[in-house]
Amino acid sequence: MIKGTSINSLKSRWRRWKCAQNAHVLRVHSAFSRISALPSHLDRIYGGTLRLKSQALASLLILTFSTALLAGNTLPRAEPVPGGIAIISLPASPVPEKDWWVRITQGNAPIPPAAYFNGQRALIIPNETGWAAIVGIPLETTPGEYRLEVQPVTGIKETIGFTVRGKEYAAQYITLKDQRKVEPPPEDLKRIEKEAEQIKAAFAQWSEQRDISLDFIRPAQGDLSSPFGLRRFFNGQPRNPHSGLDIAAPIGTLVRAPSDGTVIATGDYFFNGNTVFLDHGQGLVTMYCHLSSIAVRPGQRIARGAIIGAVGMTGRATGPHLHWSVSLNNTRVDPALFLPGR
Ligand SMILES: [Zn+2]
Repeated sequence: MIKGTSINSLKSRWRRWKCAQNAHVLRVHSAFSRISALPSHLDRIYGGTLRLKSQALASLLILTFSTALLAGNTLPRAEPVPGGIAIISLPASPVPEKDWWVRITQGNAPIPPAAYFNGQRALIIPNETGWAAIVGIPLETTPGEYRLEVQPVTGIKETIGFTVRGKEYAAQYITLKDQRKVEPPPEDLKRIEKEAEQIKAAFAQWSEQRDISLDFIRPAQGDLSSPFGLRRFFNGQPRNPHSGLDIAAPIGTLVRAPSDGTVIATGDYFFNGNTVFLDHGQGLVTMYCHLSSIAVRPGQRIARGAIIGAVGMTGRATGPHLHWSVSLNNTRVDPALFLPGR
């Protein structure tokens, strides 16, 4: 909460300063221009010098500010495997001088390109050389060569190749006493289908946001009981691999937002129990399941560390735990890659 608030207030203070500074430069410059007695070459020199000084100061501030942002933005661990993350540097694409319309509508700040993997838009952050795409790799991906499509602000689309390595995930055999949660009867299927649509829509959420904090905190204290990617068998029957990370903790243990975000949806789902979805911007979506209680409502802005609910065992759960999913470009990835001390 403190971190988000301070960065935001710093940014708004900076924006106000920048506006005031620009207005000041304009005022000074036009004052010089208005004194027609001032020879035009002096106007050029003084007006220009003042403007240059202000611009240099503003650029220095922008540089300091972006460096501070970068320094504070811990990246997830890159692990280009199925269910992992590829971090791909993109060529810097300055807006050409001739594209005056882009400059006027978007300002002089650098504009990130758009990147797509498997047709899904990927998250982009600034880095030292320009931009980097943080790309989620689907668990079912066959190891090999893949391409990221990059659309610069202006100009033609290009592609950047990257390699997905192989990874073997372990198998897990789970015995459930409630057979209904293994093979739901027809009367539950309608509910399950409806909920699947809601869950699909939540993960497909895209919100334009420039400053995204990837510096996650652990959402609940407790042992990591079931890793991401486990190939699971319920009462001997193969089911989808584990699409999240389980943290075992007593019922009532507080669940906190790992990073700033907005609540997309909450609900009580057949398999997932009481659930909260958070949107952290640019397709970075997280999900918290089996909660005993929910402390937030859809549309609410949430700061990093804010309580969103408590651990429980609602839905399909063999014991109290938090099931935590992290999604990038509508692809579930290993949440452990985001955890501190990883
Ligand atoms: Zn789980």
